[in-house]
Amino acid sequence: VCPTGALTPKSEIEDVWNLLANPEVTVVAQIAPAVRVGLGECFGAAPGDPIMGRLVAAMKTIGFDQVYDTTFAADLTVIEEAEEFLARKAAGEKLPQFTSCCPGWVQFAEQYYPELLPNLSSCRSPQQMFGSLVKEMLPEQLGIPRKKLAIVSVMPCTAKKFEARRPEFAKDGSPDVDNVLTTQEMARMIEQAGLRFNDLEPQSRDMPYGFGTGAGVIFGTTGGVTEAVLRYAAEKVTGQTLYDTDFNDVRGESGLREVNVEVGGNTLHLAVVYGLANARVVCEKIKAGTCDYDLIEVMACPGGCVGGAGQPVNLDLAARKRRAQGLYRSDKGRQLHKAQDNVFVNQCYAKFLGDVGGHKAHELLHTGYQSRRRIADETLVILDGAGEPRL
Ligand code: SF4
Repeated sequence: VCPTGALTPKSEIEDVWNLLANPEVTVVAQIAPAVRVGLGECFGAAPGDPIMGRLVAAMKTIGFDQVYDTTFAADLTVIEEAEEFLARKAAGEKLPQFTSCCPGWVQFAEQYYPELLPNLSSCRSPQQMFGSLVKEMLPEQLGIPRKKLAIVSVMPCTAKKFEARRPEFAKDGSPDVDNVLTTQEMARMIEQAGLRFNDLEPQSRDMPYGFGTGAGVIFGTTGGVTEAVLRYAAEKVTGQTLYDTDFNDVRGESGLREVNVEVGGNTLHLAVVYGLANARVVCEKIKAGTCDYDLIEVMACPGGCVGGAGQPVNLDLAARKRRAQGLYRSDKGRQLHKAQDNVFVNQCYAKFLGDVGGHKAHELLHTGYQSRRRIADETLVILDGAGEPRL
């Protein structure tokens, strides 16, 4: 069930098989953070078990030309979003800043709280940053025209299908992201191909867009975006290297967490929210002027993307927690935990994007929002991640 209730998810499996069968098209994939701790459940693994290497092997066997990682773009998102937040904080305007990487939440805000749209970060989601940047850079690197490159996302999410079809995420009539498969759809393709998933030899993601830090990985669970932004902001504000990168206070299972964090002698007032009913509570508080948050993370699904509607259905409520723990283990297992340490992201800025938040970065990595209140008045019903009406 789509957490926004805005669409009936269409399976894109057949579209992707057709793309893979076309020898004239180079098909590359991006895999979202939460997929790596969920897809294995379709093949008997425990929630949170790491299966990324086997998933890459399966996708290469199926015919994807390159398999990349959305954590690369999540690192980009951290840098752009943290800089945007620090600039707003310094100017004392358009606060609190809401995160904008969850299309379920963005659409909810457009429908029901358009007066708060100036407070949403202008950053595109990692999926869309990946699409716009890679469609801009890779054709030149491969010596092919843009229209011969297709990007397929593997997402825990049905709302990402809607997001990829938004007209602002296209150039010359060609979408930045061509197709979106949910975790379940990807597992079905592996079954259709007749692969024995558990017997596959793990393979590595392709470089450079397959490289991400732990900051990008934890995007897949509630509090992860906030923590990743804090890892950036703490270094930027203090000018000192951050060695202990864990911000345990922003982690947790409650759907509405209020946390104060000291950064460089300043206290940041944060809210970490999942579920659209909780988002509504926070929006009403802001409208009433009864809170003083600086930064608010909102994810539509229970527990964040690990609990996305495209993930394998798991009736064990503890499964979501184990998926989140899998992401934190993945962060710990990496050498790099801060987005600003991603050497390939830094190369993109040095060689192509220019300044963080600069002209090129704005063109490719940021977006705008539109009021959809009229549609909301006609629809009147919105569903949460469990498919229950919330308004
Ligand atoms: Fe998609 Fe849910 Fe994640 Fe939002 S929280 S991006 S709707 S999976």
